[in-house]
Amino acid sequence: MIKTNFHTHTIYCDGKSTPEELVKAAMEKGFTHIGFSGHSYLEIDKDFAMDDADQRKYWDDIHALKEQYRDKLHIFCGLEQDCYSPPPKLPYDYLIGSVHHVEKDGAYPMTDGSLEQERQVLDTWYGGDFDAFARDYFEVVGKVLDMTGADIIGHIDLVMKNCEKKGYQPTENFLDYAYAAVQKLLPYGKPFEMNTGAMARGHRTTPYPHPDILRMIYEGGGSIMFNSDCHDAAKLDCGLEQCVALAKDVGFREHVIFTSKGFETVEL
Ligand SMILES: [Zn+2]
Ligand SMILES: [Zn+2]
Repeated sequence: MIKTNFHTHTIYCDGKSTPEELVKAAMEKGFTHIGFSGHSYLEIDKDFAMDDADQRKYWDDIHALKEQYRDKLHIFCGLEQDCYSPPPKLPYDYLIGSVHHVEKDGAYPMTDGSLEQERQVLDTWYGGDFDAFARDYFEVVGKVLDMTGADIIGHIDLVMKNCEKKGYQPTENFLDYAYAAVQKLLPYGKPFEMNTGAMARGHRTTPYPHPDILRMIYEGGGSIMFNSDCHDAAKLDCGLEQCVALAKDVGFREHVIFTSKGFETVEL
């Protein structure tokens, strides 16, 4: 199986590594393709996003690396386009559409916070009811491709970030909300990512999405991509083998990659 990864973050946003460190790690670990996906500028939460002014520098930097390493590695310049960000100003190779917040009474509680932050969100807006939070989250997720114009669906059940720590198992209601979002997204024919970002950072031991949601995608005829949502070059391939095993277990025989010709489906 060829090793690819199209979801990576650098020092331009909340990643630890420079773009070149990621390129070198990709070559060392035997990857054939790497795509960068800095966080789009986000007015409502500037903590993890790229500065508006830095986006040009990010784009130029990745394109310079593309040229420099053109005979050694396929390099692409993408963007993780948040559903509440303005449209991108530059021509990116692809966009990953992601939901990191929900809109609640004019505020934007995070769906990507620590367990403590999540508890605060639940107490402030949902009377402690996690499934009610998940309902709002999946409602936005169902619209993420319309909101972002993205090519890839990012970490579809990010709201489950802290579920292992809490010992939470998806309830019937939770799975109904997830199912509704998956059904809304399937007709677009865009790949859903299997994402190991929370594994690399010690929040979970399993990738997104939950196997029950992965099965919904498979049974609906959806496609998948393997992305590590890398924030640290040393962990570029974190959880890749586990993702492949899970995908095969559910029934997938192919995954989607991005190439200079666009999206292509290759055997697992
Ligand atoms: Zn994300
Ligand atoms: Zn990301």
